[in-house]
Amino acid sequence: MALLPFALVHVVEHVALTRWYGKPSSLQRLLRPRSDSSRADLTTVLLVRGVLVRFSFVTAPFTLPGLALLALAGLNKILGWPGLLHGLMPQSLVVATVVWLVAVDFTHYAAHVAMHRVPALWHVHKLHHAATDMNISTGSRLSFGEQAWYGLTGLIVMRIILGLPSPDVVVAVMFIRTCLDLLQHSDLPWDYGWLGYLVVSPRYHRLHHSADRRDGDANYADLFPCWDYVFDTVADRYRSRRATADDCGLGLFDQDEGAAINRAWLTAPLHASFLDRASLAAAGRWVAGARAMASRRFSRAPAPLAPTPRTADHRIHRETGPLP
Ligand SMILES: [Zn+2]
Ligand SMILES: [Zn+2]
Repeated sequence: MALLPFALVHVVEHVALTRWYGKPSSLQRLLRPRSDSSRADLTTVLLVRGVLVRFSFVTAPFTLPGLALLALAGLNKILGWPGLLHGLMPQSLVVATVVWLVAVDFTHYAAHVAMHRVPALWHVHKLHHAATDMNISTGSRLSFGEQAWYGLTGLIVMRIILGLPSPDVVVAVMFIRTCLDLLQHSDLPWDYGWLGYLVVSPRYHRLHHSADRRDGDANYADLFPCWDYVFDTVADRYRSRRATADDCGLGLFDQDEGAAINRAWLTAPLHASFLDRASLAAAGRWVAGARAMASRRFSRAPAPLAPTPRTADHRIHRETGPLP
């Protein structure tokens, strides 16, 4: 059942791209990757989806979000806390699915905007934006930090505010979200016509990945574009409907940094998945600084001579030249 949306969207995308638009499908791009970006996507499919997601079921309880989840689950059980609005949740499967889709999507929107605005969170989101080719698997190109962030924000909504949904609702929400997420990262030039005002299309999300600074950071919505319209974060080009699927380059504004992240993801996926190179370098500098401080503090060697203090006259000489 979990593979059904993947199989369905792959077939639709393969037929549409190869028969109607004469372009390679995601499957063809992944089987014959021609760029570091596609190779990084292949790594994502094999490593993240194929191995680590399964492995993470075992390791997740030992991570911080995992521990928080366990603590909250225990607290829920002890206190019998069903969720703040649990009593108000509708019983009908269709209505409950719509309510959950809206709630999860708004949470996703807020968490996504935060990742673009808070530098520490942007570091874990960069991997997603380093893609220079779009294909179905690009949606899965999430660092572990990003997965943890979405997990944590979703957890707050589910455990504290709404309460846990029924299994039927979980299946329906996952199915719809997965299908639309896969499609919006495909190379299909679709904008769904008038339906594009209700649901995020490939053309809409493509502008979120634009490497053109004029598009800015915009089109954050994952499922429902209404959040972008309400909070005024729609890309100007999309608002005026001048954007076409092929006229924006993809990737980070800083292409060199994007290339470095793709290479890092290929050579050291575990490191790159937690933090990008810049963060690792910053962490390295911090550790080196802390070590230097500690060694100065505990070293028995005499402290180096203090530099000669500069007097006010000294400064005047530097700025105006020696006095006659
Ligand atoms: Zn983003
Ligand atoms: Zn995306």
